[in-house]
Amino acid sequence: MESSVDHELQLETNQKVEKLIEFTNNGIDLIKNGDYEKAIRYFENESFAESVGLQLGDSKTIFLHNDLSNPQQIDDVLNFISLHSHFNHKYSEIKIAGLINSKLHPEKTKYFVPQDVWKDVALVNLEEWLHAVQFISKQPIAGEDDDEIDVALYMRAKGIPLTEHFLSMHGRNKFINGQKMNDNLKKH
Ligand SMILES: [Zn+2]
Repeated sequence: MESSVDHELQLETNQKVEKLIEFTNNGIDLIKNGDYEKAIRYFENESFAESVGLQLGDSKTIFLHNDLSNPQQIDDVLNFISLHSHFNHKYSEIKIAGLINSKLHPEKTKYFVPQDVWKDVALVNLEEWLHAVQFISKQPIAGEDDDEIDVALYMRAKGIPLTEHFLSMHGRNKFINGQKMNDNLKKH
């Protein structure tokens, strides 16, 4: 039989998960509206994190020194952001690498960053928050055991068009394409 202490803990967990889903849903809406930079700022919510027993840790930051338009540099920036962003289970800590495009001596105040790059950064933000949901609820959010595939399936189910970079990480491409192939096979 379930003890009342277990029961209370479960209720507390359910409440946290509910709050987190609501929080991430708002971020998902911003991303779907194309408000990527707004979404990134939205996810930097330390007091909300604390209210569900999480913390936002420091991570590395890239400071641009030129307009970001070279495809190789874009790849490097996105890989850096992905590699230095993670959810740390041990400390219930979300760490997200930053991208800063402010100029030191401005005529224009900022270097150019393509919207697609901000979208990828926003997806990484959402990804780490979704890992927190997986961690707190102790179960997948889209029914897939692999955490990285699970977040991709969840985002897709929420109607977010996933990017090439996002799908290139953690073997998601192979899985998602494989699944599409299965879907196509079922149609015939
Ligand atoms: Zn991840």
